[in-house]
Amino acid sequence: MASNPAFAAWVKRCVQPHRVPGYRAVTLSLKPHGKAPGDITSEQMHVVADLADAYSFGELRSSHEQNLILADVQLSDLFAVWEKARAAGLATPNIGLLTDIICCPGGDFCSLANAKSIPIAEAIQMQFDNLDYLYEIGDLELNISGCMNACGHHHVGHIGILGVDKDGSEWYQVTIGGKQGNDASIGTVIGPSFSAEEMPGVVKRLIEVYVRERHDEERFIDTVRRLGVAPFKAHVYAEKETA
Ligand code: SF4
Repeated sequence: MASNPAFAAWVKRCVQPHRVPGYRAVTLSLKPHGKAPGDITSEQMHVVADLADAYSFGELRSSHEQNLILADVQLSDLFAVWEKARAAGLATPNIGLLTDIICCPGGDFCSLANAKSIPIAEAIQMQFDNLDYLYEIGDLELNISGCMNACGHHHVGHIGILGVDKDGSEWYQVTIGGKQGNDASIGTVIGPSFSAEEMPGVVKRLIEVYVRERHDEERFIDTVRRLGVAPFKAHVYAEKETA
């Protein structure tokens, strides 16, 4: 089992420590690339219910990161849980990575929206559909809201995307440096907003600056806090002007 690289990758990203020896918490990823973040089919829900009954005392938790958690799984059952979750498309090993996007329903479903959210999330996931590169980028929270009601928590995303209405068209304002948790912060707007088509490229260029400037073991949020928004803004808008 330990020599199975796919299982090892899943354990690294989707399995968390537990206070009781011999147990772990398992996050079932609802973030397969190219699908609406947080969506799950009725067939998958049946699989999840069976997993909860068989391996986690019949209990299931949902997270505001839009994933599902089996909170009390025995260490010896992890491989069986992984095999069943993977067969059902619930084991994408991307928890905490750039494609583990929080995304509100946006203009596809919500009458309050200024802009669509889900197609932006899907386009970013497809832009970064390479797990090795995602692992190299490391921990990064990207949150998207379709309007200032902020159901997608964009303002506390390391990268935040907010749908805005400009003259009846859909645009996207980008913030960086937001963070949830004990050292919470609100993201800073990097500049004028972007069209939907530009958004995957904007995220790509933000990541390019991070990869270029980061110190050893430094997360995206740490690099933004150390350098401020200026180098990120310069690279994103320089590319925009020459595009
Ligand atoms: S953030 Fe706005 S668009 Fe998104 S679900 Fe909330 S109210 Fe709707």
